[in-house]
Amino acid sequence: MKTIDKIYINGAFVTPHGTEQFTLINPTNNTVLGQVVLGDEVDVNAAVAAAKAAFTTFSQTSTAERIEYLQALYDAVAKRRDELVSVMVEEYGGTLAFCRRSVANTLESFRSNIAVLQHFQFERIVGSSRVVLTPAGIAGIITPWNASNSFICGKLSTAIAAGCTAVIKPSEMSALQTQVIMECLHEAGLPAGVFNIVNGTGSVVGAAITQHPDIAKISFTGSTAVGKSIARGAAETMKRVTLELGGKSPNIILDDADLESAIPKIIAAAFMNSGQACIAGTRLLVPESKQDEIKELIKQAVAQVAVGNPGEEGTAIGPMVSIKQYERVQHYIQLGLTEGAELVTGGTGHPEGLEAGNFVKPTVFANVNNNMRIAREEIFGPVLSIISYDTEEEAINIANDTDYGLQAYINTTDVQRGRRVANRINAGRVLINELKHDPMAPFGGFKQSGIGREFGVYGLESYLEPKAVIE
Ligand code: NAD
Repeated sequence: MKTIDKIYINGAFVTPHGTEQFTLINPTNNTVLGQVVLGDEVDVNAAVAAAKAAFTTFSQTSTAERIEYLQALYDAVAKRRDELVSVMVEEYGGTLAFCRRSVANTLESFRSNIAVLQHFQFERIVGSSRVVLTPAGIAGIITPWNASNSFICGKLSTAIAAGCTAVIKPSEMSALQTQVIMECLHEAGLPAGVFNIVNGTGSVVGAAITQHPDIAKISFTGSTAVGKSIARGAAETMKRVTLELGGKSPNIILDDADLESAIPKIIAAAFMNSGQACIAGTRLLVPESKQDEIKELIKQAVAQVAVGNPGEEGTAIGPMVSIKQYERVQHYIQLGLTEGAELVTGGTGHPEGLEAGNFVKPTVFANVNNNMRIAREEIFGPVLSIISYDTEEEAINIANDTDYGLQAYINTTDVQRGRRVANRINAGRVLINELKHDPMAPFGGFKQSGIGREFGVYGLESYLEPKAVIE
């Protein structure tokens, strides 16, 4: 049993003013892992005061100094990368492969911000003015439980690159990762107050950050529903907002695609992080003439997917993060059946022998209509919907017929055709025959998948205010 009873304010581990506790549960077997003591508004006020005091000096640091800080953060986190992977597996049931990739992304975020800083011009001549890009102020950073450390470090590294100070509220469900990250960041030796971390719930600590008048910007990753409430709350003090929200990503198989190489990538995209990924490719758009063939290939491929203990090498799907999330996914699988979709594989209930944890059966529906709720709503579990189309034009229309617009996937052997289709998809990122992440490219959503972009130059600019100086 672990007890996490400290938060990080002004360069020190301190006991929170808040006294409520949250119980951490291991989703693989539903045993208790530990307790987290939650902060409150008083803790947020102390964290903001520290970040405000630090901002005066930190906002004046040179690019070279910020690069040194980012390198120190990289070194401190790199030393404990294996431990980070194991707490991720334990705390939310991420598979070893996914958690390793996610920690690699965490480290990459420090590196990519260093690379951006090496070329970034904080002063530019525009018209007859000198435009100075100045740090926006204190950043409020609010992150979800899935791959928590990569969101914390991705956002914090950009804030630091920009010369901003930060108050961070990670998900209370990822307190073990937060603890390791807090210790690493502390070891890096940044000036006190540059970053502060307050464990707590969204309704108390998250809301206090959203409303605090001294916070200039919120960077949030999480659900669309909470993103909307943050945007409303932030409007009161006109905070800048970057919102990375949900998705219902289309994965288009064009009629010339090489199915043999496409199917494994389609499965990986649909079931990444056990389906608990904002960028999961959950709507598979297939040519009507090939629906039966593809259905069969997908069924065979899913039969090979290893579901089970996330800490074992080779496991591809672990448990859902919580019983609540397990029940939510069950509800959607039942809904698919009720809506009249054809069950290709999977279904309700636990996979055999995995009743103790929050495991669900990887599930595929075919003959799904894009108006069904299973095709429109983010399920956040390993549930794939196959939707057929007749023409390329119809495929593009179905892909874009969604409230979301975070990511899209295209499978084709004709790169020119892939690019032409990609140009017409309303999503922040389109992957053609690919699954990779590019930390230098902008990432974010169209429509209800969010506002703004993270990573690379676009991410950095979202923490800066342009100021025109006319002499
Ligand atoms: P969530 O929205 O429930 O919580 C995210 C964070 O917001 C948590 O720290 C939570 O405590 C906090 N929060 C909750 N209510 C709040 C409030 N009223 N004010 C301020 N903060 C509040 O999301 P989750 O369940 O942790 O994560 C899953 C969701 O995140 C999915 O919808 C997924 O699509 C989305 N997500 C998006 C991306 C992306 O990059 N676009 C990445 C990962 C996850």
